[in-house]
Amino acid sequence: SLLAPFERYPLTYGPTPIERLPRLSEALGGKVEFWAKRDDCNSGLAFGGNKLRKLEYIVPDAIASGADTLVSIGGVQSNHTRMVAATAAKLGMKCVVVQEKWVPHYDAVYDRVGNILLTRLMGADSQLVDDGFDIGIRQSWEDAIESVKAAGGKPYPIPAGASVHKYGALGYVGFAEEVAAQEAELGFQFDYIVVCVVTGSTQGGMIVGFAAQDRAHTVIGIDASGTLEQTRAQVRSIVDNTAELIGLGRTIREDEIVINPDYAYPAYGVPSEETNAAIRLAARTEAMITDPVYEGKSMQGMIDLTRKGFFPEGSRVLYAHLGGAPAINGYSYYYKDG
Ligand code: PLP
Repeated sequence: SLLAPFERYPLTYGPTPIERLPRLSEALGGKVEFWAKRDDCNSGLAFGGNKLRKLEYIVPDAIASGADTLVSIGGVQSNHTRMVAATAAKLGMKCVVVQEKWVPHYDAVYDRVGNILLTRLMGADSQLVDDGFDIGIRQSWEDAIESVKAAGGKPYPIPAGASVHKYGALGYVGFAEEVAAQEAELGFQFDYIVVCVVTGSTQGGMIVGFAAQDRAHTVIGIDASGTLEQTRAQVRSIVDNTAELIGLGRTIREDEIVINPDYAYPAYGVPSEETNAAIRLAARTEAMITDPVYEGKSMQGMIDLTRKGFFPEGSRVLYAHLGGAPAINGYSYYYKDG
């Protein structure tokens, strides 16, 4: 394994299941076979999700640093801050999370249910601030780090999405190795992998991991940030740093980084009618729950690309389900009639 030199602190159950999606495949014309890799079911920690795969390679560094407080940042309905809060609870550390107003919303209980409810329940100090959406390094996060120090604590900073962190993408390098091992058992290879991208280390890790198998270009990133250039630049730098870190031995080409910007509209965190139709279709055919911020958009992308004939007939497409379902509680307004 490319990851043999790196320490991993287990937060997940281990390899996640890959399952067929026969009714979704049928509903989309039956010419392309859809499968899902269920990283949304990867752990018993607070409903799990992609961040735990990343955090498994960050936690050893946090412990070694002697920190007593994990400090991170996200939106009000951030899955990432939920997962950092869960990790801190599990480790017996304190947790401070800055939650910015990244998303306009209709639901009166938006800042009390779903991810933020779970984050508070696990004992994290959740600080709501007024700043808008940005995947970069934020002043509010730096202020939170300083305030932990001022109070005599030892913070360990984890950036948004655990992405711009030296070890942030290693977990998804591991995903690529895991898929290859599962394919060997299944007796075939997937032709495409569809994955949602925002802060970049999920797809970035996959690109490096699949580049080692010479098929990074089959990873189709569906942007949900609505800020394509920033996301692409962040994926690029994560890919470069991670390739060097694991000793890939070559530079990833631009054409190996595939990000489709067509489904992020109308904005980060806001589902379009087509997003909601995709969420309903996955729910009604496979009882697979996707959220309006991330997975609903990658589901929408996969459905639309299928209808447009992007995947050749007979293709097997693996949908990476990254989690995020708790956020749907903050979006009840869209689904009050189902
Ligand atoms: N899907 C879910 C459920 C997420 O919580 C996130 C987090 O941002 C993503 C997809 C996007 O992953 P990344 O930020 O690593 O690009």
